[in-house]
Amino acid sequence: MIQNSQSTPHKEDIRNLAFEELGRYLESIGEKKFRAEQILNWIYQKGVWSFSDIKNFPAELRKHLDQKFDLKQNLIYKKEISVDGTTKFLFDLLDKEKIESVLIPTETRTTACISTQAGCKFGCKFCASGIGGWSRNLSCAEIVTQVLHVREESLKHARPLSNIVFMGTGEPLNTVSLRR
Ligand code: SF4
Repeated sequence: MIQNSQSTPHKEDIRNLAFEELGRYLESIGEKKFRAEQILNWIYQKGVWSFSDIKNFPAELRKHLDQKFDLKQNLIYKKEISVDGTTKFLFDLLDKEKIESVLIPTETRTTACISTQAGCKFGCKFCASGIGGWSRNLSCAEIVTQVLHVREESLKHARPLSNIVFMGTGEPLNTVSLRR
């Protein structure tokens, strides 16, 4: 088990903010709106897990962002790697819900398979996801953080992600039932 420090509950995860929301917040504290694009580039292109790694920001702004927002990694509870390189992550969320993400490398593509919900209400007998029932939908931050972790793993093998698949545990069946 790889232990990472947990988030402080009262801090909002910055990855839950839409681009425009982040821009508005930055303006409200006297910063230029373009900082929002810079922050997203550092998070999603450069893959930083800490505001202190945003090297081109003044120290005061980095400190402010760190006090205001969360930008931590999920807790990786378990990681399993198959002989073909398929890698399964089991993540522990802040409320102790567990979710899975999978990196699937093939000859033609590298796919990240990402959870969008914790648990599943359908309880199919053959499937572990339904054992504990459905708990909740995941936040935007919880979803994109999975992508960041899986991408980090794929880049260790010099394989940039080419596809992202959203696993909505039970969600397609849910849609069918709503149409009836
Ligand atoms: S609907 Fe899908 S995720 Fe849910 S219990 Fe059945 S097989 Fe598992």
